[in-house]
Amino acid sequence: MSSQSGKAAVNVLVQKFGGTSVADLKGFEASADVIQHHGGDGQVIVVLSAVKGVTDLLLAAIDQSVEGGDGKAALNEALQRQQIVLDEYAAKGIATPLGAAFLQQQKEQLAQRIEGVRLLGQCPDRIRAIILATGEGFSSRLMVDLLMHRGIAAAWSDTDVLPLANEDWLDSLINVDAAGPLLKARLTDAVKVLVLPGFYGRNAAGEIQLLGRNGTDYSAAAIAAAVGATRCQIWKDVDGFFTADPRIVSNAQCLDEVSYEEAMELSYFGAKVISAKALTPLSAKDVLCEIRNTYEPDQPGTLIHREAKRTHVVRGISHLQNVASITLHGGGLRGRVGIARRVMDALASRSISILLIVQSSSEYSITLCVKQADAEKARRALEDEFHFERLHKLIDEVLVQGNRAVVSLVGEGMKHYRGIAARFLTAISSAGVNVEVIAQGSTECAIAVVVQGDAAQSATRACHTAFFSRTTHIDLILLGCGNVGSELLRQFRQQSPKLLEQDVELRVRAIANSRSLLVADDVVDLSQWQQQLEQKGTVYNMDDIIAIRDRLGLLNPTIVDCSTDEKLAAEYVRLLEAGFNVVCANKKANTMSLDYYRELRTAASRNFRRFLYETNVGAGLPIIDTLQGLIRSGDQLKSFEGILSGSLSMIFGLLEDGMAVSEAVARAMELGYTEPDPRDDLSGLDVARKLLIVAREIGLQLELSDVDVEPAVPMDSIADVDKAELLPAIRGIDAAFAEKVAKAKAEGKVLRYVGSIKDGKCRVAVEAVPKEQPLGAIRDGENALVLHTHYYQPIPMVLRGYGAGAAVTAAGVFGDLLRTVWRPLDQRS
Ligand code: ADP
Ligand code: ASP
Ligand code: MG
Repeated sequence: MSSQSGKAAVNVLVQKFGGTSVADLKGFEASADVIQHHGGDGQVIVVLSAVKGVTDLLLAAIDQSVEGGDGKAALNEALQRQQIVLDEYAAKGIATPLGAAFLQQQKEQLAQRIEGVRLLGQCPDRIRAIILATGEGFSSRLMVDLLMHRGIAAAWSDTDVLPLANEDWLDSLINVDAAGPLLKARLTDAVKVLVLPGFYGRNAAGEIQLLGRNGTDYSAAAIAAAVGATRCQIWKDVDGFFTADPRIVSNAQCLDEVSYEEAMELSYFGAKVISAKALTPLSAKDVLCEIRNTYEPDQPGTLIHREAKRTHVVRGISHLQNVASITLHGGGLRGRVGIARRVMDALASRSISILLIVQSSSEYSITLCVKQADAEKARRALEDEFHFERLHKLIDEVLVQGNRAVVSLVGEGMKHYRGIAARFLTAISSAGVNVEVIAQGSTECAIAVVVQGDAAQSATRACHTAFFSRTTHIDLILLGCGNVGSELLRQFRQQSPKLLEQDVELRVRAIANSRSLLVADDVVDLSQWQQQLEQKGTVYNMDDIIAIRDRLGLLNPTIVDCSTDEKLAAEYVRLLEAGFNVVCANKKANTMSLDYYRELRTAASRNFRRFLYETNVGAGLPIIDTLQGLIRSGDQLKSFEGILSGSLSMIFGLLEDGMAVSEAVARAMELGYTEPDPRDDLSGLDVARKLLIVAREIGLQLELSDVDVEPAVPMDSIADVDKAELLPAIRGIDAAFAEKVAKAKAEGKVLRYVGSIKDGKCRVAVEAVPKEQPLGAIRDGENALVLHTHYYQPIPMVLRGYGAGAAVTAAGVFGDLLRTVWRPLDQRS
């Protein structure tokens, strides 16, 4: 046996085995192994739960019979589960005299009792206790059979050694002081292992009274406290207390220690590790408690004790389902003394326990939570209690909201830190979950929130990521995989290992082009995404995209739009509302109506999501960010001019060298600088969109139609010709244009296609620019933005560099993507 608590007078170890440890033959064997090999050199008191599921089935048998139904099926299943274990032992030639005799006797008695319940249409609590206790009666006897078979000096004891402190048939308390001598008397020298059924004790008249659901933990804790045991071990099917329910949070971590108070808070709000009730006797007598895994007995488990080190700010997160919130609201509550007391008394008198209660500061409302099963009873109790107030319209109707859950964050270290609640709430809202009630106790050991029941799992996962995950995940869905999209995927592949070193994990969850969508089961394999999209991609619509979030359980997913699709841009608000960040290279959304422009920003902030579009202007050049930074710091843009198109920068540079327009366009096309149809560039619409985005960024309330656009070349003669006839048609304007170029040159100027903002007006036009001015030097596909601001004058701020091309654009999108992450709190103090 491991170290002793020091003050233990007796060398007794208490071991409790829960239902998951005695679910079947394998469980009984594993538990017997633990008793045999991990019981230490002193005596052992073993306390057992019923075979897994048996209590629930017995309860179902009772409830169905009360309702007039036939509870026999449930009863038979309960009996069958236990019989199977006996049969398996028989098959192995192991005698089970105690277990077999008990079950045989119960088969007759239980059938009669359940039939009695059905005839009566009710089940008195006294009978309910007797029926439910049989599960533990069986498992404990069977364990004695098994230990005896192994040659261990084991004895069975009834719970008459656990006298009760109160008269409650279903949720009683053990009189710990009185139990001590009785237990010790039964722990004679001849006995190595004393086995008791958990879950019930006996009153003065010797009648069975239950200790509450999951009461075996409490039996063990009270016994350990009563005899002054060296330790109380709770053996389960998990390695210990986890930072969250491991069935829901796959990367939950097993804790090496927790304090009594933390264990209490975590259990109270749903962590199924040890019942909250069990912690009272343990903590009162300072009994060291271990949570251990029956199936992995060499694992160290979790130690629950007073001095748990506070190395972690937050210890764990728990969630409790099947809760109802009840609100009393109305002016009649204001300033009246004793309302909360009346609420509590009304519920207590009907044995309804209140999980949490919050009063708004104006005292206009009180919200409390109870178990869903108690909700209707609670409503009636409150309606009766506040009958007078309701009659005189001093309060509104009692509002009951079912199917709620409580998610709570627990840790004694929290009281020394600020901002924990903020991070907790941010994480929950990042998961797209609405918080309805917040409660924090004055000990600051726990913060609890009430949310919709079906949102509890995502909220729990989000909080776990926020507080415990070292790795930050970027989950993304890429829409549009042309030049920029494919380049982005290439950059991800290249950059992922470096990011992982910094604890950022990039996960591409889905990829779509205009025709089909590929959703990964987990993550898309970037080494062969093209083939996969081709082979496994399916036709899709926006609902399919939105569904990915729930399907893969994503917390902070991002849509990256590398298309030029206007219809897709019109869906961003919906995507933001559905909890996605949106990062777009697509310029359409920001140049649609001003109403939509505003709606996008409201949707992003309302849903705590990011809407990022750095590459909309100047590709990878940090223009949007720079502008936002200047404006936020109080600077003002006086005027702006820029060369915002890579293709036109190229074309006008060639004109400067004396090339004809038609030839320059042809060259730019050859080099891949233009859109497939170069008229999309020449018309000036693309530059107008970029200019509008800059203008809106500095607060101008303009529509696209407000931008005055002079095309780069006269469009009249070329607008309507076939693409094949385009270059010959442009030749028709070569001469006139050459004249313009020559005229500018004579004045020491060059022609540039410039977007400018001045006096609140946007204009896109061909301009003759002095060669020595910033824009005069911009050519060969380069972009430049010249910002004349209050601070930057007379010399303006100039940003220049390649403003087009897949590599720089993808890098800009990548940058935006990295800005969507929220980082976990550093756990170490
Ligand atoms: P037993 O009756 O055997 O004691 P329960 O069925 O009451 O076991 O609960 C065991 C289950 O509780 C575990 O399998 C685990 O999935 C779940 N659980 C919930 N929250 C936690 C947590 N924070 N740490 C460990 N297990 C948890
Ligand atoms: N069997 C009882 C229950 O399921 C007691 C226990 O297992 O702790 O509530
Ligand atoms: Mg249990």
